[in-house]
Amino acid sequence: MSEQNKPEILKMELEALSKNEEFARVAVAVFMARLNPTLEEVDDVKTAVSEAVTNTVIHGYQGNGGIIYLEVGIDGQEIAVTVRDTGIGIPDIKLAMEPMYTTDPDGERSGMGFSFMEAFMDQVEVKSAPGEGTVVTMKKKING
Ligand code: ATP
Ligand code: MG
Repeated sequence: MSEQNKPEILKMELEALSKNEEFARVAVAVFMARLNPTLEEVDDVKTAVSEAVTNTVIHGYQGNGGIIYLEVGIDGQEIAVTVRDTGIGIPDIKLAMEPMYTTDPDGERSGMGFSFMEAFMDQVEVKSAPGEGTVVTMKKKING
């Protein structure tokens, strides 16, 4: 197997702060550059990462801080991004993923984060347990 085709992985732990959302999506964008993506593909992945990371900060940890576990895997032309928190968790995942569903009390959020992740990535999988945390795994084939 040539070096070019070996699966590669990037793991990061970030403090759950809003300012780290920009850092996370730029880090993923730089890491995926080796797949020679189009600008549109980079933007799609950045948007999805941004939505998932924002959710950990706002919902998972409710603005109280914690650790965001970010993992990016590249296997062939596929990128897999995992965003994990050990926050409050999601009681009903199917409901949470419905377009326009939000638990935001101030009406400032539109409840479209999961819908964007699903629109911009090929596959989105959510695992969660109340009181334990949430794992969002998103995959996308990069055609370049
Ligand atoms: P928007 O993303 O449009 O600003 P939103 O964050 O409410 O609004 P989604 O990202 O689709 O919308 O998330 C829907 C709901 O799922 C959230 O309102 C929240 O209740 C729940 N949720 C999402 N991510 C997490 C998480 N990491 N931990 C706990 N709850 C979450
Ligand atoms: Mg959201």
